[in-house]
Amino acid sequence: MPNLETVVSEIVDEMRKRTDRGEVARYIPELARVDPGAFGLAVIGADGEVAAAGDCDVPFSIQSISKVFTLTLALGMVGDRLWQRVGREPSGSPFNSVVQLEYERGVPRNPFINAGAIAVTDLILSRHQPREALGEILRFMQFLAQDTAITIDEAVAASEQRTGFRNMALANYMKSFGVIDNPVEYTLGVYFHHCALSMTCRQLAVAGRFLAHSGRDPSTGLSVVQAERAKRINAVMLTCGHYDGSGEFAYRVGLPGKSGVGGGILAVAPGKASIAVWSPGLDAAGNSHLGRIALERLTKRLGWSIFGE
Ligand code: GLU
Repeated sequence: MPNLETVVSEIVDEMRKRTDRGEVARYIPELARVDPGAFGLAVIGADGEVAAAGDCDVPFSIQSISKVFTLTLALGMVGDRLWQRVGREPSGSPFNSVVQLEYERGVPRNPFINAGAIAVTDLILSRHQPREALGEILRFMQFLAQDTAITIDEAVAASEQRTGFRNMALANYMKSFGVIDNPVEYTLGVYFHHCALSMTCRQLAVAGRFLAHSGRDPSTGLSVVQAERAKRINAVMLTCGHYDGSGEFAYRVGLPGKSGVGGGILAVAPGKASIAVWSPGLDAAGNSHLGRIALERLTKRLGWSIFGE
């Protein structure tokens, strides 16, 4: 088996030399300012060994990766009742698509497209005031990542709040079908803020460990969710974690994963590792271009695809 640290540093060196990086997200003005040449990778193996290189300690906007954690939190609050509000089928359409909502009476296809994540945020909010709900999400991330320094980037949240007209449309449309309980501006306020969580690859990889180890963080021994729930969250990540690039990600990388338009990807190798990669340039589906290629290299060299060598 190749040495993990060597594999990680070789991949980072290779990716940093490439010039085909994709385009940084511009529809959230604050994200357009990020350096497209940044690249970070962090892998935490089953025994806690960490291999990290490049910009692995530079915080970036995790955007939709936060949807994995809000899904986890909401399932803990309302259990499988959540699936009455949100489906769990791949969407086959862009992350911010509105068309499918019309056919399915305002019920989003899955919790990882924008509409689905907004509906999940609404469930979390129903138990709290907006400020408390956000505090709950932030504390959950700090607990999972074992780092109380994690914060929300207010400039990114405000930037999206000013320009997120499509998300406002999605939320209002769902509200018209009774899928959103709270005032849409409250739900969206919490949604924009959890998308604006700022984290490093290393922090994200720590936060994702429970998904790689049957719901338990092996470093603390604490159970975050039951093994069955971790298995199901991984399943939704595999089938829906990359919008209409989910099939391509499964084909090439072979791991459950969730991307964000900030250029991050959290990937889970069950029983083996939690992995976070960051490269801000995106492909046409809104997923990190080099991040995906790096993960493909990693799983190939280590034989980590869940589908075999
Ligand atoms: N906050 C972003 C939005 O709602 C998240 C999209 C993403 O990361 O894919 O558009």
